Amino acid sequence: MTLTYINDELHLNGHSLRGLTEQYGTPLFVYDEDALRNQCRRYHSVFEGESLDYSISYASKAFTSIQMVKLLEEEDMKLDVVSAGELYTALEAGFPASHIHFHGNNKTTEEIEYALEMGIGLFVVDAMDEVALLDRLADQPVDVLLRINPGIDVNTHSYIQTGQEDSKFGLSIQNGTAQEAIDRIHSSNQLNFKGVHYHLGSQISEEGPFLKALEVVFEWLSSTSIDVEILNMGGGYGVRYTEEDVRFPIEEGFSRIIGKLKSLADEYDIAFPHIMIEPGRSIAAEAGITVYEVGVVKDIPGVSRYVSIDGGMSDHIRTPLYDAKYEVLTVDAGEGKNIDSHVVGKLCESGDVIGKNLSLPENIRRGDLIAVGTTGAYHYSMASNYNQMRKPAVVFVTEDNVREVIRRQSLKQLVENDVI
Ligand SMILES: *Cc1c(COP(=O)(O)O)cnc(C)c1O
Repeated sequence: MTLTYINDELHLNGHSLRGLTEQYGTPLFVYDEDALRNQCRRYHSVFEGESLDYSISYASKAFTSIQMVKLLEEEDMKLDVVSAGELYTALEAGFPASHIHFHGNNKTTEEIEYALEMGIGLFVVDAMDEVALLDRLADQPVDVLLRINPGIDVNTHSYIQTGQEDSKFGLSIQNGTAQEAIDRIHSSNQLNFKGVHYHLGSQISEEGPFLKALEVVFEWLSSTSIDVEILNMGGGYGVRYTEEDVRFPIEEGFSRIIGKLKSLADEYDIAFPHIMIEPGRSIAAEAGITVYEVGVVKDIPGVSRYVSIDGGMSDHIRTPLYDAKYEVLTVDAGEGKNIDSHVVGKLCESGDVIGKNLSLPENIRRGDLIAVGTTGAYHYSMASNYNQMRKPAVVFVTEDNVREVIRRQSLKQLVENDVI
């Protein structure tokens, strides 16, 4: 994504952000469509370069919509969904059901029935009870992976750690429940055991934990004589929010991961499996920004300055939830000096903060625009109607095109389901 000031005004790929907000309003999510496509292509080229049998599934939860799904299909991506709603969105976009796999630690009976009826390609079974439930509901053979828990602690926020022993996700390889679930899958009527899946956590910046997981998993596979056709290593590849973050090095990292896989397969004499990965954040996060309009600017002399914007935790929950940090740019390159400022939302919570101690122009005032970077993943998808805020509009831009992909919610839609 290239953000540049042209005539003192911030532009994304040549499009004036102020111009976009005049047309689509604020808050506005703006995606660089080429950046989305480019990330998909980078993943493909790593695996293609190694001549591997592989698939890249995008984790819908990072950001999904009909146009996003269409773009993903054009980029030869597969899709990971975790709810009836994510599945419905994908199918409405015409995405082939056979290229979708269904995750979730508590899939409901209704969701399983819906996914079976739609002919979903693969279920990732996450619990002992799900083996029996899925087997009972299926009236023809279904391919399944088992979500295993390799017991790896990764150095990331505890809310987004998932592969450690004490977790609601997956079945442990250490305590034997993973093996037991696989035995049950083998003895079921309709379930075809295809392999295993694990997901270590999110925002991981180096390949270390992935290499470690491979060692643990291959040792376990060889000690249990479990045959896997598919090995799904999950997602979690880190992105840059601020200069403190280290991006997961896609090319170098995967070349080391694949090298490790090859040597482990040799060492344990295990047939090389079909490799799946599920990046979400690393496809979408850095391709998106949010543009807000500034309203009240409140100076508390000698204490701090609050710059309020016309959105907040209803479209940006990661700061309140994880204390996540962001970079904020002014859309109009102001003159004069910058001062320390807190950028806050308009919702009724003190925790409704976008960023603290950011440097913003002293003369920032009502009507100015600011852009918050790296909001393409886990922002729109985590948006809520708290305070009856309307979900923002989303636009995709390329060099020579701008298209609205999600319209702003209307006031009327807020009471659509209300009984009157
Ligand atoms: C969240 C999740 C992903 C994607 O994680 P990112 O950090 O967005 O890459 C992939 N697989 C599973 C099972 C997940 O829960």
